[in-house]
Amino acid sequence: MTAYSLGSLLYEGKAKRVYATDQPEVVAVEYKDDATAFNALKKAQLAGKGELNCRISALLFEHLASRGVPTHYLGVGGERWMLCRPVRVIPVEVVIRNIAAGSLCKQMPIEPGTALEPPLLDLYYKDDAYGDPLLTEARLEHLGLVTPQQRRRLEDLARQVNRELLALFGSLGLQLVDFKIELGFTTTGELVVADEISPDTCRLWDRGVADAQDRILDKDRFRQDLGGVVEAYGEVLKRVQGACPEPRVYG
Ligand code: UDP
Repeated sequence: MTAYSLGSLLYEGKAKRVYATDQPEVVAVEYKDDATAFNALKKAQLAGKGELNCRISALLFEHLASRGVPTHYLGVGGERWMLCRPVRVIPVEVVIRNIAAGSLCKQMPIEPGTALEPPLLDLYYKDDAYGDPLLTEARLEHLGLVTPQQRRRLEDLARQVNRELLALFGSLGLQLVDFKIELGFTTTGELVVADEISPDTCRLWDRGVADAQDRILDKDRFRQDLGGVVEAYGEVLKRVQGACPEPRVYG
C-alpha cells in the first residue's frame, strides 16, 4: 500500500516536477533525467540522473536534519520520488564558495582553485528571464524578497549547511568547491532548506585525483562536455552511502 496518492502537477522546473498529494501537508517531487546548463541553452537527457540526484539529495537532507538544519524533506517514495513539506520558495539562490571556480572567476580577477577563507556567500535573484543576476543588499531590499532578519537567518542556515557538508564530503574524500541552495517558508512560517542538494547544484572534486578534469564529479562534466556525467554522479552516491547508507521511505 502506498502512503500517498498523487494529485495535480503544481510546478515543473528544469530538473524536477512537483505534484500535490492527497495530504495537504505533503508534496511529491519527481526528479527528471533532463540536464540543462547555461540558462537551459544546453540540454540533454541523461538516463539515471534523476534517480541518482533524488537519492543523493535525500541522504544529504537526512544528514543535515540530523545536524539540526531544518529542511522540507520528509522521505523518499519510488526511485526518483521524494516527499516534502510544501514551501513557498524565496526566489533567491544562495551560493557558498569554498574554492574559486565557475562564474566567480569569469567575473572577478580571482584565479580558479583559490581557497576562499572565510567562504564567500553570494545571493542571486532566481529568475531565468533576467539570467539569475547577482543581488546587492540594496536590490534585495528594493525587491522586498526577505526582511533583514530573515536574510540573516537565511545566511546563517546556508553557512551551517556549508560547515556540515564540508565535513561530510571531506570524510568521504570529496572536496566541496561550491554549492547553491534555495530556501523557503513552510505553511507554518518556518524557514527551511528546500529544492535539492546534488551534483547538479554542488561542485565536487575527488580529492584522490590530481588531474583537474578527471577529478570533477559534478555538473561541470556536462557543462564542459567531459563525458561520464552519470558515472560521476554514481560515484558521489556511492561515497555518500559510505556515511549515510539508506534513505527513509516515506509513510
Ligand atoms: N548553481 C546552481 N544553479 C544555478 C547557478 C549555480 O545549482 O542556477 C550552482 C553551481 O552548480 C555551482 C554553484 O552553484 O555549484 C556556483 O555556481 P556559479 O555561480 O559559479 O555559476 P556557474 O559557473 O555554474 O554558471
